[in-house]
Amino acid sequence: MRYFPTFLDLSGRSCLVVGGGEAAAHKTALLRKAGANITVVSPRAHSEINSLADSGEIRWLRRAFEPGDIVDKALVISATGLESVDRAVSEAAQAASLPVNVVDRPELCSFITPSIVDRDPVLIGISSSGTAPVLARRIRASLEANLPARLGRVARFADAFRQAVKASLPTFTARRRFWEDFFSSDLARLVLAGEEKTARKAMLRRINSVAAEGSAGGRVDIVGAGPGDPELLTLKALQHLQEADVIVYDRLVGPEILDYARRDAERIYVGKAPGHHHKTQGEINALLVKHARAGRRVVRLKGGDPFVFGRGGEEQASLRRHGIPVSVVPGITAATGCAAATGIPLTLRGTSQAVTFVTGHARSGEPDLDWQSLANLGHSLVIYMGVETAGITSQRLTEQGLPAATPVAVIENGTLPQQRLATGTLGGLEALVQRAGVTGPALIVIGDVVREANVAEIRELAEAV
Ligand code: SAH
Repeated sequence: MRYFPTFLDLSGRSCLVVGGGEAAAHKTALLRKAGANITVVSPRAHSEINSLADSGEIRWLRRAFEPGDIVDKALVISATGLESVDRAVSEAAQAASLPVNVVDRPELCSFITPSIVDRDPVLIGISSSGTAPVLARRIRASLEANLPARLGRVARFADAFRQAVKASLPTFTARRRFWEDFFSSDLARLVLAGEEKTARKAMLRRINSVAAEGSAGGRVDIVGAGPGDPELLTLKALQHLQEADVIVYDRLVGPEILDYARRDAERIYVGKAPGHHHKTQGEINALLVKHARAGRRVVRLKGGDPFVFGRGGEEQASLRRHGIPVSVVPGITAATGCAAATGIPLTLRGTSQAVTFVTGHARSGEPDLDWQSLANLGHSLVIYMGVETAGITSQRLTEQGLPAATPVAVIENGTLPQQRLATGTLGGLEALVQRAGVTGPALIVIGDVVREANVAEIRELAEAV
């Protein structure tokens, strides 16, 4: 980060503006909004500055800048457009360790000012750190268009009830939950619609009823994070992520997805990491119960779908046994994610009338699967966790009569930028997987549907390593 974002409290503080043109008038207007005591130094000045000085709202020194002008100032802005003057102001301010901004000369600035969306008291500052002002302007325009004009009123309304809520709800967690519910409620919409009087009455009722109920208990939402691409999160998953106090997540959940969580949410990793002790399912279950009992909103975040080879069922059962409210949010499972990302339809009229998901995971060398029924033609077979047992899978399926020439695909890191796809035949599956040197999560698809794979995506895994 090139610049440290901050909002300064300048109310009643003395600030210096050097220059009298339009840019100086603009900065003066902004500083006035922030309640600063402003001194403008400039031999000549814009009519706005002139009239503010006449009415005594700012002080205007009608002369050239002198280094002594910065004394006792909290902040200095130079907007003369004359390099020698701007430089002198910047040097004087920096020598005195005062924050200084020189309009349009970042090299002379100790701080820069963002473009702003002003819904006072809600204020959004946008900056591209000087790299792409047009982009910053576009972001600003889109925020301007999307944020309701009365947003500031909602913030002020909430502020007016802050003390009452604090008095009624003793814990920080309960208060935060109250406000989260409030901002997405009909009540907030009433304020946005300008119906503040009705909203005030309803707000009092709401505070009283929440206080009477006592602080709400914790809960666990078991949420599917999808196969990897963050854009494949569901809206519901996103909403839960943004409300969670605690996020308990697995290895398959990438940092781009965790970025959607609230910044102050506690993140607990329970996946396997080479050389580290990883938590057993029992320990994970206990952890979920513990945090929910502490009154927290827990999101148990899992790769793909929680109910497809995700042990979501066991966690749900444990939470139910402990009487903890639990919900499940489905996610896009690896099979459908990888299929879409590679153009392989899982069913196809005339080619594949069914699709079967199995796990290739084996406790003792060989997956415990009904090879005979899996070898029946007419369906597509998707194998999760099947890389290590690819050899035995290929052997058993061909023994049961599935032709060795049946097309297969191996998809590693499906839906992610580093996705790799290789295709071959069932007979050559083990060699294909070995050549590939698969290290990421990978799925095997077996069946004639593989012929439909998007040729642009087909790369020998080995070549890409
Ligand atoms: N609940 C998850 C599956 C967890 S089991 C789901 O619904 O997708 C873990 C296995 O899922 C991995 O070994 C791999 O076979 C598969 N998998 C998960 N994400 C994947 C991805 N992005 N690309 C390929 N396979 C993936």
